Amino acid sequence: MFQTIDPYVFDNHFEPRTPSPEDQAVFLKDRRVFVLRDGDRIGLPKCGEYDTAYTYLFSVSGIRFFLGKELPDALKKADSFWGYRDLFGQRPEWLAFAAMTGLQIGCWYEDSTFCGRCGNRMAHSPTERAMICPHCGRTVYPRINPVIITAVRDGERLLLTKYARGFDRYALVAGFAEVGETIEETVKREVFEETGVHVKHISFFGSQPWPHSESLLLGFVCDAQDTSITLQRSELSEGIWVTREQVPVQENTLSLTSTMIEAFRLGKI
Ligand SMILES: [Zn+2]
Repeated sequence: MFQTIDPYVFDNHFEPRTPSPEDQAVFLKDRRVFVLRDGDRIGLPKCGEYDTAYTYLFSVSGIRFFLGKELPDALKKADSFWGYRDLFGQRPEWLAFAAMTGLQIGCWYEDSTFCGRCGNRMAHSPTERAMICPHCGRTVYPRINPVIITAVRDGERLLLTKYARGFDRYALVAGFAEVGETIEETVKREVFEETGVHVKHISFFGSQPWPHSESLLLGFVCDAQDTSITLQRSELSEGIWVTREQVPVQENTLSLTSTMIEAFRLGKI
């Protein structure tokens, strides 16, 4: 999966640090990150190249990343700003993951400029990655939205779906956890809402950070109690039961969805 950057180690611990000229710089424009291209590899600029204020982000195996607080004039007209989809699958993998994560945190800072309770300008906590309102004291941390993805089995068959819009390959039932429900209830509700199928025997498969929607994807395997499909047409265009032999071979296993589909095809789940 794309967050697997072994032997590199991601360290998200925050401290109020100041950059050195050689540290990696993350600059955002319109919810995209400035990326350099070197052949088939991506790169980021160095902090020493641009004289601006920086906020420490994280490190990857000792390589430190900083967020530029302002976009330097020299980059305002640059056209090499990339979104999450552009970064997905790029090499080196550890830098693509760092750029996506830097973009997510940078967007969170942008969204946390003003207090959602009283409307005053927020200030950075001196000790942690949090924004604090000096007026009312509200403290805001980066928000992570839980999303379930579930492989629904009927014995030797798997339930595959296609979204009504956007991603056009076969996928698994997925959806956001709602307020007040457990993650197991989310699995049951989403499968029933999208396909009309009731499920049981819910077990955890694995997880994946998903910066596209500021989410943590939680993968589950479960068994169908009934197999008649009634599609939620607003969400899905297709829902079918396929045998292991019929499961499409995945191009890669960068995503949790493709990892789970491939695991079923190979008889691992
Ligand atoms: Zn406030």
